[in-house]
This record gives sequence, structure tokens and C-alpha cells, in this order.
Amino acid sequence: MFEYRNGELWAEDVAVERIVEEVGTPVYIYSKAHFVSQFKRFDDAATRNHTICFAVKANSNLSVVNVFAQLNAGADIVSKGELFRALKAGIKPENIVFSGVAKTKDEIAYALENNIKMINVESEDELYAIDEVAKSLNKKAPIAFRINPDVDPKTHPYISTGLKKNKFGVPYDEALELYEKANKLDGIEIVGVQFHIGSQLLDTTPIYDASVRIAKLIEALNDRGIKIKIVDVGGGVGIVYDEKTDKEPDVNKYVSDVEKAFENFDVEIVFEPGRFLVGNGGILVSRVVYHKKNLNKRFLIVDAGMNDLLRPSLYSAYHRIAPVKLTGSERIVCDIVGPICETGDFFARDYEIEDVPNSGLIAVFSAGAYGFTMASNYNSRPRAAEVMVDGNSFKIIRKRESLEDLIAGEVL
Ligand SMILES: *Cc1c(COP(=O)(O)O)cnc(C)c1O
Repeated sequence: MFEYRNGELWAEDVAVERIVEEVGTPVYIYSKAHFVSQFKRFDDAATRNHTICFAVKANSNLSVVNVFAQLNAGADIVSKGELFRALKAGIKPENIVFSGVAKTKDEIAYALENNIKMINVESEDELYAIDEVAKSLNKKAPIAFRINPDVDPKTHPYISTGLKKNKFGVPYDEALELYEKANKLDGIEIVGVQFHIGSQLLDTTPIYDASVRIAKLIEALNDRGIKIKIVDVGGGVGIVYDEKTDKEPDVNKYVSDVEKAFENFDVEIVFEPGRFLVGNGGILVSRVVYHKKNLNKRFLIVDAGMNDLLRPSLYSAYHRIAPVKLTGSERIVCDIVGPICETGDFFARDYEIEDVPNSGLIAVFSAGAYGFTMASNYNSRPRAAEVMVDGNSFKIIRKRESLEDLIAGEVL
């Protein structure tokens, strides 16, 4: 949905330069058509009773979440704030699942008052907190345990979550005992089992392996009279960041593998994709401020920084970067860096790119997931604007922050 026409980058049927003229830089630009088509690819692959719960942390802009709400998606949320957003964006509460290791009683109460689908419990302490809150509200909390299946997703260590050493979920070997304990609590209604082993998985075999382990657990639970109605297989399906090295995962195979792992059970399958739905539907556009040379090292200094897009700094993540206008000028090897006072403030290092003059525009691709949602005001930089393109029109879906926004709520 982002392509070059006569050497100029377009987002669907709108020239990126036209958006920048009106909105300025840095700006996130999203393609609605990409979001819709990714959702449909996923949804069409599923043949069994299922719900796709968009992982709101990947991109939580109301208009983005609303695209999925209109497609009848649910949401996977990890905080009270995300629940608030998901509801505002039109996601039905009965399609919302709540993950996270540190849900407070206040957050649990908010979730129960809104009658969400399921709370994914990550520890025994949390189980008792949920039971207590539910009883105080005269409710039964629908829960799943998040099981740590101890399979290696073979992705970046910061985004693998299903290993024994990670903080997420409860150990596989303790699961039966925990379900037995939960089964005795008046405020708890056991409805499901959940797992999520990591993110940016280009090979989804580890998710299948985890599913097989979880299927064994469901069998053991059913034998003990604990009926599982929902199996939630988390998110994690990866996207192509680098066309030279990444191979697009086969969504049809992934979904059919998961369905096969649970073929013996009459369960609803919940998927929690985040990155897959939005990652390649967004770019971050930034203006070149200066060129600089320190001895042999060249820098392209741009007006977006790690406060706008943290992934390269946080995970050494690769993002493809290219000029918005191709002019055929010489190719240079440079570091593409931002204005933040940190050595870690870079988008790419030793990167070969067609040179872009000062005031020219660059696009950082694959920025639709974990881009704006990780943005901060570090160095007192107002956060970027967000724009959604739909066909030949576009709309500002979040205004650029102002200087006044920067100090809102502060006291002198
Ligand atoms: C982050 C997260 C997701 C989404 O992960 P993606 O890799 O973006 O698909 C899904 N479920 C849980 C519990 C998460 O923490």
C-alpha cells in the first residue's frame, strides 16, 4: 500500500509529500487498506469458531482500533488505559481479553465492571486478587491461566516471552494444580487456557509445538472435570522488515496448524495478533535536517528520533529506510540518526541509501506496530502527528502535540 509512482512515494492513492505539506514532520502515515487486508487474510484462514483480538499495544490510536472494531475484531489489552481505548474505539467488551503480569485490583475491577470476555491470569497471587475483587462486585470472573509452555520462539531475547526464565505466565508443570485451586474459588469461573510465546516469529512452528503441549493440558483438565471453552494462542506472527532476509510467514499454515492441534476439542480459538495486522501498514516520515561527516563516518541527521520510533534503539531492530522522492543521486553509506542527546538515538547504522538533500524527506518503513505506541516526550519533543490514508483521501487521526501539551498537568 506504500509504493513508488514515477519515483515518488505514495500511500494508497495519496502522495506522501502532499500529506507532509499539510501536516509537517515527523509524521506517522497509516494505510487503512493494509490493515483491512491483513485482518481478512487472517480471518479467512480460520475455519473454526474463532475471535481475532487485536493486540492494542501494537497501535492503540482510536481510529486504528476502530478499523478492526468495524471488522468485528476483539482486543487483547494489557492495561486499564488500553481497555478504555478499546471500548471508546467500539470494540465489544465480550470480545476483549486482558493480559499482563501486574494487573492491579483497580484494573481488575474496571475489567469486571465492563464484563470483558476473559482475564488471562499470570500468577497465583493474581488469581486470589481477582477472586477477591469479583466477590466484592458479586460477580464471577471469567479466567484463563497464561501458561508458559517453555518453548523457544527463536526470536530476539527481549521479545521472547514463553521461556522458563521469562516473567510471563505460570509454569506448565504447575498448571493443573493452579486450575484445581481456581476451581474452588467462588469469584472465579474457569473458561480458558492462554499462551503467548513471543513476537516477530517468522517461523511459526514453535507456536504449533506450544499448541500441542497446551492440548495435552486441556485433556488433563477435561479429565478432572474442568471444562475449557476457549483456547487463546496469543500473538507473535511476524512480518517482513527486511526483504533481503525475512521470509513472510504462511498465515494459512499457521492458522490450520493451530486448528489441527486442538481438533479434538470443542473450543473457541482466540488469536491475538498485533504486529501482523498493523506493522507494514505504517511509515514514519521525517525530514533531513543536516548532513555531517566525522572523520570517515557520515551521518544523515533527521527530525525524528528514538522518542518517535524506539525499536532500533531498544531491540537493534532493522527498518528499511528510503527517500520519499527518488532522484537518482549518489548512494551513500551513513548512520541515520535523530536529534536526541543519546548515542543510541539512531534508525540505522552503516546504511546504504540514495542521498537525500537537506530538507528532503525520508520514509522509515514497517513502522505501524510498536511505533507511535512507544513514543515519548524525551528531550521535551512534542509527539508526532498520525495520519490515516483511505483510498485517495487522508485524515489526521492524532494531532501533532503542541508546546502547551508538553507541560499539561505540570505545576509551577
Ligand atoms: C504483545 C502481545 C501480543 C501481540 O504480539 P504481536 O507479536 O504484536 O503479535 C499478543 N498477546 C500478548 C499477551 C502480548 O503481550
